[in-house]
Amino acid sequence: MIITFLGTGTSHGIPVIGCDCDCCTSSDTRNQRFRTSIVVESSDGKQVLVDTSPEFRLQAIKYKIKKPKCVLLTHSHADHLHGLDDLRIFAHTFTPCSSNNPEKIKPLKIFANKNTVKDVKSRFSYVFKKTQLGGGKPLLKLIPCEEFSEKNPLKIGNLEIIPIPMYHGKLKVSGWMFKDKNTKNSFAYLTDCSFIPESSLELVKNCTYIVLDALREKIHTTHFNFEQAMEFVSKTESKEIYFTHISHETTHEEIIQIIKELKVKFSIEDKNINPAWDGLVLSI
Ligand SMILES: [Zn+2]
Ligand SMILES: [Zn+2]
Ligand SMILES: [Zn+2]
Repeated sequence: MIITFLGTGTSHGIPVIGCDCDCCTSSDTRNQRFRTSIVVESSDGKQVLVDTSPEFRLQAIKYKIKKPKCVLLTHSHADHLHGLDDLRIFAHTFTPCSSNNPEKIKPLKIFANKNTVKDVKSRFSYVFKKTQLGGGKPLLKLIPCEEFSEKNPLKIGNLEIIPIPMYHGKLKVSGWMFKDKNTKNSFAYLTDCSFIPESSLELVKNCTYIVLDALREKIHTTHFNFEQAMEFVSKTESKEIYFTHISHETTHEEIIQIIKELKVKFSIEDKNINPAWDGLVLSI
């Protein structure tokens, strides 16, 4: 399984428009963050995209995304969703170049929880309405993810995927857990959360890698801060952890220092915990 971080920044991205703080003006490229998204590739070469950020087109070009087998959405906030229209290159309702090609265009499957499916249908209503040809739009099939579980995972190539229920303030969102049948490694992607129920902790606590929302030092109503993220990490057996959805209030180097201190506080010096950065690739 290969995981590529397409973006690791909070909703504004970094640099923040008009901001001249140390982080936003840093020349360290790890302090330049697109909105949060990843792509996961199975050991048999199948790509799964998680979220379509507003920078999705730029991310897809930069990180050479070819054709994902499906898309998983964590929730419907703009920073995770508003690049959705650019999926049309993978599933277009009108393709003049293929008019001599008998291959039928198939809809691209999008998996998300029920409230996210509802929001996508209203936010992108034109995608799901019958209209005349032209003014291209993606051909998408929205599928509620609640039917998938440990016993009945979503299967994409060698990947077995299950949604992980979490709370982002009061909003129910989906983390996603991936297991590769071939390598036996597992990976949990848990962004945009301020509370992870015990039943969800049970599902992810033995993952080889965990990627977790960790916004900033100060407390926040809908995101884990660094300390809350560390507390969650301390309840897991995972040894390899990356933080994502990071704000401009701390630079990459500053976060590394904060993590060092918090590792002592939670007695988890044996774990490898780092802030992620755009372009980071994990081969597990
Ligand atoms: Zn977000
Ligand atoms: Zn800034
Ligand atoms: Zn959010």
